[in-house]
Amino acid sequence: MKIIDVQVIVLKSPESYGASTRGEEVRGIKYLGIVKVQTDAGISGYADLETQPHVAKAIVEAPSEGSVSGFFGLRSILLGEDPFEVERLWHKMYMGSVYYGRRGAVMQVISGIDIALWDILGKAVRQPVFKLLGGGYRDKVMAYASTLFRSTPEGMADASRWYLEQGYKAVKFGWGVFGEDPERDVELVLAARKALGDRTELLIDSGWYVHRTAKEAIQMVKRLEQFRPFLIEEPLPPEDYEGYAQLSGAVDTLIACGEQEATEWGFNTLIERAQIDVVQPDLSRCGGFTAGRKIVHMAELHNRLCIPHSWTSDLLTAASLHLNAFMRRAVFQEFNVTSGPLSRDLCVNPLQLEDGMLRIPQGPGLGVEVNEATIEKYRVA
Ligand code: MG
Repeated sequence: MKIIDVQVIVLKSPESYGASTRGEEVRGIKYLGIVKVQTDAGISGYADLETQPHVAKAIVEAPSEGSVSGFFGLRSILLGEDPFEVERLWHKMYMGSVYYGRRGAVMQVISGIDIALWDILGKAVRQPVFKLLGGGYRDKVMAYASTLFRSTPEGMADASRWYLEQGYKAVKFGWGVFGEDPERDVELVLAARKALGDRTELLIDSGWYVHRTAKEAIQMVKRLEQFRPFLIEEPLPPEDYEGYAQLSGAVDTLIACGEQEATEWGFNTLIERAQIDVVQPDLSRCGGFTAGRKIVHMAELHNRLCIPHSWTSDLLTAASLHLNAFMRRAVFQEFNVTSGPLSRDLCVNPLQLEDGMLRIPQGPGLGVEVNEATIEKYRVA
């Protein structure tokens, strides 16, 4: 089997990111990049990208003729290659773009292509991706509703009850007004904990853009420990590795980080130097399954938890479910609760919450079928 084309398709939602139900900004993404890799066997693989999609398109389409390796566009690197050599192809893309890549948008496109290649492999051998990774330890994972902080205690309580009604057994509140006022932060988290009760897990994404020092982060976490958050995410900027180590050593609450990180080298630094408790690789940013599999192994070797970050559409959620299936211990699947069409309508068979759990797709490849009608409807490039 040979790769005959690699495309980035840019979709545009008719809705701007804006307010909707329960006072939340829930309409989701405006632009979404879709990677499509085609083979001469008639099998195509798909992935969505959490990056700047117009930039992603240029990274794939950039010409390579007359250039030297390191400046190549990613499509030219892959044409004619056998998708089954997925790990070698990852490295070939990494080295072929190394002078303008290594991280950021290029790594995010490599991630999408890698996910699409694993989708092709699964479809070719008619097996779900988790089996190709090494096997499945489970057939479902607890979802957490991933949502924004509301600005008042009443709003937090109302939203918490809403997610309980939907069947969620875990809710993560993040960003929004959190971090602006320490007293209000406590009131908001208290209101969520009261409304969720003692048996629902509460996660907090504290927003690294607040620019806390390590000691301020320690104080913030200690103020919230009484509400028993399962974890507190990104209290510090993603590159403050020493700050994370100081924080992790000073508090009992699990400290999580990793959605901004990429590659095996980045996650090795987060584990060994930053000493965080929970790594949160996003498959569409960290380097796809080829990097994600190594990150899972690294987390297992060092006895840390791995909870994949996943926020775009059902396509990425499905990919993350395969990674979750393959871990010895899986805790949660992040579930984007936004209602926009690019999040909800990209797959023919949308993922359904069942008693707070998400099933691991069992079909070939990613196990979800991309809705070509949705792609055609919203395609702008
Ligand atoms: Mg986050």
